[in-house]
Amino acid sequence: MPKLCHENQVGVQSKNTVSTGADTFDIGHKLTLGLLQLRYNFRVYPDAAQRTALAQAFGCARVVFNDGLRLRQQAREAGEKYVSDAELSKRVITRAKTTSQRAWLGEVSSVVLQQALADLNVAYRNFFASVTGKRKGRKVAPPRFRSRKDNRQSIRFTKNARFKVLDNGRLRLPKIGDVPVRWSRSLPSESSSVTVIRDAAGRYFASFVVTTAEDESLPPTDPEIGIDLGLTHFAVMSDATKVTAPKFLRRAARKLKRLQQDLSRKQRGSQNRKKAVVKVARAHARVADTRRDWQHKLSTAIIRDNQAVYVEDLCVVGLGRTRLAKSVHDAGWASFTSMLQYKAARYGRTFARVNRFFPSTRMCSACGRINEKMALNVREWDCPCGSHHDRDVNAAKNVRAAGQADLNARGAHVRPGLVPAARREAGTHPDAACSTRSVEGISVL
Ligand SMILES: [Zn+2]
Repeated sequence: MPKLCHENQVGVQSKNTVSTGADTFDIGHKLTLGLLQLRYNFRVYPDAAQRTALAQAFGCARVVFNDGLRLRQQAREAGEKYVSDAELSKRVITRAKTTSQRAWLGEVSSVVLQQALADLNVAYRNFFASVTGKRKGRKVAPPRFRSRKDNRQSIRFTKNARFKVLDNGRLRLPKIGDVPVRWSRSLPSESSSVTVIRDAAGRYFASFVVTTAEDESLPPTDPEIGIDLGLTHFAVMSDATKVTAPKFLRRAARKLKRLQQDLSRKQRGSQNRKKAVVKVARAHARVADTRRDWQHKLSTAIIRDNQAVYVEDLCVVGLGRTRLAKSVHDAGWASFTSMLQYKAARYGRTFARVNRFFPSTRMCSACGRINEKMALNVREWDCPCGSHHDRDVNAAKNVRAAGQADLNARGAHVRPGLVPAARREAGTHPDAACSTRSVEGISVL
């Protein structure tokens, strides 16, 4: 049996609470059918000289990004046409290097600079696609300037840059050096790019993108499962399994909350505030790592034991504006469901989000009757048909039934076209149409 494994074990993609950095990753959208792009993250330990070189490269990438953005903004204000990608590269990299103000750009790998511009170009394309309605889901804002104060800095090397994993296990980065890596597992194949990240907690990571063919299918199994994501339990399944976030995770989350409160009492610009920011960032990274590990174990088990998995599509962005935003984000449903999605694709299972509106709680999963609205504290109820229901298990059963019906309507085993490797925590699936349904319980609060 192929071994199920955990990708993305390290929390570099999670946004922490103090980060304002632009997210440069958009991996799930470059997929061709049958191939999966996965991200593998490893902690790296640059020495002092390498850290200095990295800081310089982060800075240069940021300057090129900002120069490019400024140039396009100025062209727009002057009523000129959009500066093409090639023209932009010529002006803010090639030609800039020959000027005295930007000569130092020549000291870092040019691939790093080109990739920074590539990020800008993608950000522009996403923005245009969003404005014209070609891109569904949440509206994408125009690109913003990057700041040296962003807590998350990153640069990307592609194959052209000739980065290399050496026999001694170090990662050779052009103009940076041979950086020690803690390999928690081996890469399944050669990587097409590596992103080096410094997070808010001051840790460094190398994030490799690896393309794998979908050749790891698990033997077929029978069960199909519906999952209800809730606030009382993290997840409730149609087979009546209830999953609660483990105690250590809740404890860590409470500690984080306390640190955040400490931070909010510190005076702006003070030295104590700076220290508190780092403390919060570290605690946040710990919580995110722990949660990710736990979610990996849970999603792996669910995918292993079931042939098809259905979850209700929730509009987490909409929820983010409610009072319960905090607990919703902490629950990390978005990252959990995207783990289910890519593992399903990888191991030959079916995964579907049920995104049509139906009252999953009030509908009797036995007879289909829609009953009266229930207060949040009603955990069990009886349907006039004689069925006795656990509130959440009944909802999960309805999700499963709706998922199966959707799938039958579209033809069995439609594979999702896009599989995100793993999204940052509490993000949303960009293609998910937001359902108008509020999460059970939130509307009554
Ligand atoms: Zn009934």
